Amino acid sequence: MLPVVAIVGRPNVGKSTLFNALTRTRDALVADLPGVTRDRQYGISRVGERPLVLVDTGGLVSGAEGIDYLTAHQVHQAVEESTLVLFVVSARDGLTAADEEVAEVLRQKGVPVLLVANKTDGLDADVAVADFASLGLGEAAQVAAAHRRGVEKLMGRVDEFL
Ligand code: GDP
Ligand code: MG
Repeated sequence: MLPVVAIVGRPNVGKSTLFNALTRTRDALVADLPGVTRDRQYGISRVGERPLVLVDTGGLVSGAEGIDYLTAHQVHQAVEESTLVLFVVSARDGLTAADEEVAEVLRQKGVPVLLVANKTDGLDADVAVADFASLGLGEAAQVAAAHRRGVEKLMGRVDEFL
């Protein structure tokens, strides 16, 4: 069985952009509209020589109803079947209540989590991630997925979990 790494986070933080950067495809749907990825999207990536399955998920929104509820269900399934969760937050936006809710869900699941601060482009690196220290998930990996920046280093940290 290949290790499974799920990309999770509130809508619009850049999960699908990161998925594309890690799988080098444009398979995941990227849009300015929050919640655009309704289904799970699978791709193959690798760390060094080792292949892994990467899962892009829709945003995890608490109290979601209707189609958002279905998306949330898919996210829960993806998290439960994964070896590691990449919990993506936006350095541009800073910590939000929605991020804290996602963190709480992940804590309850007890799955290994690697915090990823995306959209660090144009920001002072350390200031960009300081906001997320209160999540208690350790130091965030800093990336700018849209520019593929930090992606190699991120994979190095993923490797430590597999
Ligand atoms: P998702 O909803 O979490 O899957 O987010 P998307 O991947 O669809 O991206 C949401 C928006 O953020 C899009 O407009 C992306 O172009 C933008 N975005 C993604 N990554 C970056 C980044 O590294 N820097 C900046 N500035 N914008 C980004
Ligand atoms: Mg998406």
